[in-house]
Amino acid sequence: MKNIIFMSPPAAGKGTISDMLVESLGYIHISTGEILREEINSGSEFGKEINEIITSGGLVNDDIMVRLVRDKLSFNKDKPFILDGFPRTLNQAEMLNEIFLDLNINNILVAYLEINLDDALKRALGRVICPSCKKSYNIYYDDLKPKSTNICDDCKVELEKRSDDTEETFKVRFNTYLENASSIMDYYKDKKVFKKFNALSSPNEILENILKEVKND
Ligand code: AMP
Repeated sequence: MKNIIFMSPPAAGKGTISDMLVESLGYIHISTGEILREEINSGSEFGKEINEIITSGGLVNDDIMVRLVRDKLSFNKDKPFILDGFPRTLNQAEMLNEIFLDLNINNILVAYLEINLDDALKRALGRVICPSCKKSYNIYYDDLKPKSTNICDDCKVELEKRSDDTEETFKVRFNTYLENASSIMDYYKDKKVFKKFNALSSPNEILENILKEVKND
């Protein structure tokens, strides 16, 4: 089974598909955004610095991110993983290649979930997340709404919006992502490990298409 580097602009539905992959095939899900948000919630000084960067829509320093990903991958050695939110710059992609060489990781699919700004913005503005289990819901889509208004179906706690899911910050994040993504995509196209998927297909359809690729060793 291939390891997955999951790329997409924000709010394309990467989190939802990752959850499905974890459930169906037992992948380890490494989301750099999630790790950073945990650090922020811990209240540490480092978390405060990160919070300023994230709420302005900027990117955290490459060296910090690379160290964090190296630690996670070393800790989960030999388990198939989904890397979500990393790499976000060409420099990160090149450093990730070094990590893969060091850890002897070579079976990779780079899956890109494609979406335009208008569709992604609608998803981001409707997105609410359970602070406890991190499950994501969307108030604008009937099949993604929680059963009771603003309450997690499983944990029964109140759902929250992400602080960076405002229209202004979202547009910055989206455009920053795309500016950096094209060189990363070229990098992986050259390595012949790159595949695009349509974010507007149903989650089951996307999952099925990705499964065909990850099982295709
Ligand atoms: P995400 O949950 O992937 O949308 O990430 C939320 C925010 O965390 C991003 O807008 C960045 O500020 C920061 N972040 C996440 N992953 C990275 C990364 N690989 N490099 C730099 N910053 C990141």
